[in-house]
Amino acid sequence: MLRRELFVAFLVLLTVPNVGGGQEGEFKKFIATCSTTQVADFTCEIVGDRWEVRCILAAGQDPHTYETKPGDTKMVADADLILRNGWHLEGHEWMMNLAKDANKPVVTCVDGVKSLTLGGGAEVKDPHAWLSPINASIYVRNIVKGVSQIDPEHRLEYEARGELYIAQLRTLHLWVQREFNKIPRSQRVLISHHDAFNYFCTLYGFQGASPGGWSTGDEIGAGITAERRQKVVDTIRSYNVKAIFVETTINPKLVRQIAADAGVKVAGSLYADSMGSPGTAAESYLGMMRENVIMIVNGLK
Ligand SMILES: [Zn+2]
Repeated sequence: MLRRELFVAFLVLLTVPNVGGGQEGEFKKFIATCSTTQVADFTCEIVGDRWEVRCILAAGQDPHTYETKPGDTKMVADADLILRNGWHLEGHEWMMNLAKDANKPVVTCVDGVKSLTLGGGAEVKDPHAWLSPINASIYVRNIVKGVSQIDPEHRLEYEARGELYIAQLRTLHLWVQREFNKIPRSQRVLISHHDAFNYFCTLYGFQGASPGGWSTGDEIGAGITAERRQKVVDTIRSYNVKAIFVETTINPKLVRQIAADAGVKVAGSLYADSMGSPGTAAESYLGMMRENVIMIVNGLK
């Protein structure tokens, strides 16, 4: 008799579907489709193995000028949640348009950040907020909230992962401050192709300049102008800047020309609008920030 009961119990166990929880069982994963590599990395840090995280942009692609492909429509249609940066980082709001067409819920990660506005006659909110680790923690909180709304059963788990990651962002911030103490205040001038580093420069006491404006695309107030190019050369000369930087997503030609004109070296390639390729030191947000800071210290100290 006892044997038979055990056998029945075993059968019941076999037939109860695994609805998440145990690692051994099969359960349907939620799907998050992200626009940028940074947003995808933050999302991966929060969702663990409960979600499949997909990213439209590959490492090294430019979000400002990206043109959507038919495959992107499918990636959005398959998703339970869409995550984007916002504030026109995705040029002409391509991610929002894809999400609207598919009627999908959207997390705009930059929501709640205190914006820096860009000049040039147009009031445009600078979208490059993630390059401040303090702002990155706002992105993380928005993502925790967004995934918890889709999967409220595991909210505490998402919050726990989010808190651990925010602690890592705080550690990163303190480390960046210590590293930049190696660069004299008078030499804290960061010049790269476009204005990706305004939040970063404001947080760490740098002057910034770029020939490209806030976007590499053709949006309001963006683009290379002779005036911006001249301002960069003037800044290099007046601050006696030792080195300037190209960016991993942008053709380095213009910055190399400016370096030659102004008689300074190009110290290397910064990660701004994209993280590094998988397998490189900059394949994560923490990694790209670390590699950027090391490169800036080596170039300017
Ligand atoms: Zn950018």
